[in-house]
Amino acid sequence: MSDSTTKPRRVCFFGIDGATWKIIKPMVASGRLPNLAAMMENGSYGVLDSTCPANSSLAWTSLQTGVHPGKHGIFFFREQPSGMYQRPIVSWNSVHAPSIWSLANEHGKRVSSLYFPMTFPPEKVDGVMISGLLTPDRNADFIYPPEFRQELEKAVGEVPSDNEPEVVFGTVTQEAAAKKLFETTDQIARIGAYAFDKQDWDLYGIVFRGVDLASHRAWCYQDPQWAKLNPAAAEKGKDLLGSVYDLLDAKLGEIRDRLDDETTLVVASDHGFDRITHRFYVNRWLVEQGYLKLKNGKIAWMKTKLFFRQKFHGALRRLRLLQTYQATMKKLGGGGNSPDMGEAMLMSLVDWPRTKAYSSFGGGEDIVLINLKGRQPEGCVELGQEYESLREEIIDKIKQYKDADGTALVADAWKREDLWSGPSIELAPDIQFLTSDTGVNAGGNPLMPVTSEPALDGMPAMHRLEGVYLMEGPGVVRKGHEAAKGQIADIAVTMLHLLGLPAEDYMDGGLLGDAFEPEWLAANPVLARTGNRGRLDFKKSDDWGSDEDAAKVAETLRSLGYLE
Ligand SMILES: [Zn+2]
Repeated sequence: MSDSTTKPRRVCFFGIDGATWKIIKPMVASGRLPNLAAMMENGSYGVLDSTCPANSSLAWTSLQTGVHPGKHGIFFFREQPSGMYQRPIVSWNSVHAPSIWSLANEHGKRVSSLYFPMTFPPEKVDGVMISGLLTPDRNADFIYPPEFRQELEKAVGEVPSDNEPEVVFGTVTQEAAAKKLFETTDQIARIGAYAFDKQDWDLYGIVFRGVDLASHRAWCYQDPQWAKLNPAAAEKGKDLLGSVYDLLDAKLGEIRDRLDDETTLVVASDHGFDRITHRFYVNRWLVEQGYLKLKNGKIAWMKTKLFFRQKFHGALRRLRLLQTYQATMKKLGGGGNSPDMGEAMLMSLVDWPRTKAYSSFGGGEDIVLINLKGRQPEGCVELGQEYESLREEIIDKIKQYKDADGTALVADAWKREDLWSGPSIELAPDIQFLTSDTGVNAGGNPLMPVTSEPALDGMPAMHRLEGVYLMEGPGVVRKGHEAAKGQIADIAVTMLHLLGLPAEDYMDGGLLGDAFEPEWLAANPVLARTGNRGRLDFKKSDDWGSDEDAAKVAETLRSLGYLE
């Protein structure tokens, strides 16, 4: 047994939000993506199943904690606190499990964590941390330690947050958004390279969100069916998504060039992607089924108001004044912990004392919430028999629901305890369903028809369960091996193992063992897990930050298409 096979290794993680084999494999076959291609040849790769539902907030949290949502407590970008109908935006303070960064620190390993979604506010790690998606904006304290920001500004220039509204397709023209996305990606890569070279780390990780951003908006251009209906637009945009994959592959190359023999490279995405064919307005369905009651007198007036609000906000967004406008409105007394007034308007339509069930008014969530007595302010459903039979009834009905063409829109539906387990289950939606893989996206507006085909200028693609993972490390990772399917919580356990550290006994993930050379694995057996189960029973803070910060994050999520 030589030293080199048993020495703990350094781990370098490169995250590509939203990457899918559906795009990577054909591009590799046509001679593109040379770095991902080289990793497939010199390493192991496979499908990485996301969380259910496949959303960046839960998925990146599972990747960084090694546990499923029932333990980490993140079920979407929103919380569901008792005592209020408003659902604040989550942050790292909402996460109920320790991060791989803090675990590595406890074992004396130094970390560099760059642009991981969900890590705002940044942890005080031994090493450095730059928070990613859900950072309010670049003026927030999203870099730890603060001196690292000054160091970066001196060495490489401005430090962008992963919340630059111009990068997000839909707020500016497509050309302008793409240009800004390329520039921001270059700058984040420069910061990543600087931290790689100048920081002393054992565990390094960086996440790029460009593929996710581009997939939401540009998936359609390379979709043959869509292209047939929109030939001019498709011709113009057909390589936009591919060019973003090319860009991230080049950034991966800059990292690969820096690797030594003692570092294992891990690449992963948090979920896959595919097109959207239908919108399913869950709150409208609940109205039609009699579970959600609206105040009839207000509807016509509200329709007009919403129509003008949409027009007005669209104009403000184009002028980049929307955030300022919303912040000002809040200061004048609007809002009050609700990150969006449009949602608040929709919710003011609801006749709560007569409503038994409702869904997200922001959309993007495949959920049904029960209006429970004692939990919701005007709850009317009794816990126990009434709650149980109501959930069963709704699950049965929603699974059977078909649109006018006879298309089944829901693939499956569960009571929360049948899908997840763990001490955070009380924070989960009462019913989670999964829309079918034909591409259904849930909407929140109860005044829309139950189903509709997406508008052409709307969001043409959404997440799918199957993401990707690749690993490379000579003598450690098998070469040219298509490895067994993994699940997203496996990444934390696998990275701990490469660092020579045990996993924690509460972790749901396992080792992605099929990717490793059998001799290396024999020389580096899985260590007994350490018993820290009690550490899941904590909540960091109930502080959701200022209304202004919440409005900024909500506006980003809306531009991304995660909220309406
Ligand atoms: Zn994502």
